[in-house]
Amino acid sequence: MKKHNYSLLPHNSFGFDIEADTFVDYSTEAELIDFLRHNNADDTPLLHIGGGNNLLFTGDFAGTVLHSSIKDISVTDETDDSITLRVGSGVVFDDLCRYTVEHNIGGLENLSLIPSEVGAAAIQNIGAYGTEIKDLITKVDTIEIATGKRRTFTAAECMYGYRNSIFKTALAGQYIVVYVGICLTKNPKPNIEYAALRNELADNKEPSIYDVRQAVIHIRNAKLPDPKVLGNAGSFFKNPYCTRSYYEDLRRKYCDIPHYDISEEEVKIPAAYLIERCGFKGIRYGNVGAYDKQPLVLVNYGGATPDEVIALADNIEKSVLSEFGISLEREVIYV
Ligand SMILES: Cc1cc2nc3c(=O)[nH]c(=O)nc-3n(C[C@H](O)[C@H](O)[C@H](O)COP(=O)(O)OP(=O)(O)OC[C@H]3O[C@@H](n4cnc5c(N)ncnc54)[C@H](O)[C@@H]3O)c2cc1C
Repeated sequence: MKKHNYSLLPHNSFGFDIEADTFVDYSTEAELIDFLRHNNADDTPLLHIGGGNNLLFTGDFAGTVLHSSIKDISVTDETDDSITLRVGSGVVFDDLCRYTVEHNIGGLENLSLIPSEVGAAAIQNIGAYGTEIKDLITKVDTIEIATGKRRTFTAAECMYGYRNSIFKTALAGQYIVVYVGICLTKNPKPNIEYAALRNELADNKEPSIYDVRQAVIHIRNAKLPDPKVLGNAGSFFKNPYCTRSYYEDLRRKYCDIPHYDISEEEVKIPAAYLIERCGFKGIRYGNVGAYDKQPLVLVNYGGATPDEVIALADNIEKSVLSEFGISLEREVIYV
């Protein structure tokens, strides 16, 4: 499907009514290769999107927006203990979570309700409640934009890090994900190490992965705004890392500052704490604000422009830098 002057309103969770010059939706690998080889000979800017849940369009997109509707799923390997799936990039990630949990196949339950398509999940290394998708990915099948040729990346070659992969760094904008290999377990053992999840399941002595999924959904619904109601793109900033000695210095001034241990030398500090201490929690400027239950999420209260969100984000970044000496890194991708 190819459309011109196409509204991206249904494709960006901030809810901006912006347009792409051209929008191309493909449903097979062959269709994508054909587009890249025959229709994309000029230098028109190209952007591949998933569900648009982590994007901030700064204005209309003067180029072609590509979207995958590759939705087939097949089993590529199965043992007594595990099952490996080959999942199309256009599959809605939570549909996959729901399906696997309902069939008692474990691994994805902690990632329930993350708004994502499967292709983007492999680019972003989505994570929540103590699970990251990188630990379940076996390989990522891609098409190179410049040549239309297939290339398969092993999980190691994807160079995964915190919300990061080679597709966002050295090879940014060069490959399109078409399929993702995901290895799941047939003997699931729920992971409830994460404190919020443990508390939610405190009355359940032997939670199943179904219980974990329900608990995750419950926590997320209580804490995060639904983009269909309040436009947002999830956590706007990444949780910053710093040295343990820098953290100890901060703790002398802010005795309640939380942290997660990363290594002997490094800790991670919740960006939400820093933003809240700078007075932004629940704040509203015109049509935008920092969500009252989770200030890391910037929201569009209706009718906001991209510039309003950017101004608020800039303001938060400057305040956190001046108060804590920490530079926040954006998780949301500006287009
Ligand atoms: C309410 C809310 C809660 C969220 N909670 C979490 C959370 O708990 N954990 C978490 O990790 N994230 C979270 N996010 C962020 C978001 O869900 C993830 O970043 C997700 O992976 C975005 O998926 P998407 O399909 O919308 O991709 P998009 O936002 O459309 O794209 C993300 C990036 O992937 C690229 N891309 C997309 N598809 C492809 C493809 N097939 N090939 C190549 N490149 C591609 C895009 O160019 C872009 O760079 C949340 C977002 C929202 C709105």
